[in-house]
Amino acid sequence: MAPPADKFKYALKSNDAWASYKGHQNESFFPTLAKGQAPEILWLGCSDSRCPETTLLGLQPGDVFTHRNIANILSPTDLNFLSVLEYAVVHIKVKHIVLCGHTSCGGCVGALSDSRIGGVLDAWLTPLKAVRAANQKELSAIQDDGERIKRLAELNVKQGVDVLMANYVVREAIEKRGLDVHGVLFNIGSGKIQDLGLGTDGELTQSKDGKISLTDGTEGQGKRESASAPVPEFEIVRGNHAMLVFNNDDTAVLTVR
Ligand SMILES: [Zn+2]
Repeated sequence: MAPPADKFKYALKSNDAWASYKGHQNESFFPTLAKGQAPEILWLGCSDSRCPETTLLGLQPGDVFTHRNIANILSPTDLNFLSVLEYAVVHIKVKHIVLCGHTSCGGCVGALSDSRIGGVLDAWLTPLKAVRAANQKELSAIQDDGERIKRLAELNVKQGVDVLMANYVVREAIEKRGLDVHGVLFNIGSGKIQDLGLGTDGELTQSKDGKISLTDGTEGQGKRESASAPVPEFEIVRGNHAMLVFNNDDTAVLTVR
């Protein structure tokens, strides 16, 4: 049967099929979700339709708390972003914050252009324009348009991670319970996420008594030592037919049963 031409109608039919399939696959899936959420990841990403975090992570509803906006810009006074951040860190107590930029980002294209977009969008992109201005020399030296857009996306993630690391709620959670902050880049052309080694992956040192202290991050003082908690041999992410199995060496394989 051909899918309905109207994309919204098609989406509703698709949802119906998906919900039936998930319910059939695991009867307790939706009833369990309905009881509450305990995601371990806060995802901060771009609104771009090609970057649906739960899908590209191979995870499920209930796994990722999310805030997305155009070009994943983290402004320290954005009440929307701050509310999501505080709820995730203080109330849900997520273990990881992941700030994700991506290749071919339209927001980066706009920020690299010298012409106005119009409306409210130029105002929104102002912090990204500032990142561009601060790195103009490096960006101008990049010949390839795609590479320049990608580099601005990386610099934007670095800027956003700096905003996160300066946030009181985040700093307190890092020091009191080992919250991790990561900066990553999603490559739309390959589907792969690259860890940029920012945040607690790059800017923290751990003293002998286990206390973690923030450094200025410019000296490359080494990776934070891994926590002493035992790492399970593998962890199975929900799903009866196709499962992602995580091995001890951080690799994951898709197993179909
Ligand atoms: Zn984008």
